[in-house]
Amino acid sequence: MMEVPDSESFIKADMVLLAMGFLGPESHIITDMGMEKDARSNIKTPAGKYRTSVDKVFAAGDCRRGQSLVVWAITEGRQAAREADEYLMGITSLPGPGGVIQFHHPQG
Ligand SMILES: Cc1cc2nc3c(=O)[nH]c(=O)nc-3n(C[C@H](O)[C@H](O)[C@H](O)COP(=O)(O)OP(=O)(O)OC[C@H]3O[C@@H](n4cnc5c(N)ncnc54)[C@H](O)[C@@H]3O)c2cc1C
Repeated sequence: MMEVPDSESFIKADMVLLAMGFLGPESHIITDMGMEKDARSNIKTPAGKYRTSVDKVFAAGDCRRGQSLVVWAITEGRQAAREADEYLMGITSLPGPGGVIQFHHPQG
């Protein structure tokens, strides 16, 4: 964006709301924890996975996939929980995508 000189105008208002779009998640925690970001400044995880580049840290929802919908946030939260359970226990019985229960061991 470039400022156009002498183009200012003033409008009297009691309240001003700025709807400026989603610029990605706040970077404090991402930077402080040294998490890798994707090209859109979201927390990077492998495709279809929720683990971040920092061991034992998982990401889900808007901070991972970018501005989206509540249904995706819920789905991702559930799948991230499943991945964390599998990480901790070596196996998980929590439902996978679509609510399907599949026993899966990370080592195959
Ligand atoms: C104006 C607007 C309208 C929308 N309308 C719809 C709609 O109609 N339908 C729809 O499906 N989706 C809608 N969405 C999108 C939906 O709200 C998001 O996709 C969803 O809320 C993402 O959920 P989330 O849990 O990933 O993130 P969030 O809901 O953003 O939750 C992240 C939480 O983390 C907290 N947090 C952040 N930093 C820290 C920190 N350092 N320490 C502790 N807590 C922290 C935040 O306070 C927040 O509570 C809308 C979004 C906006 C902005």
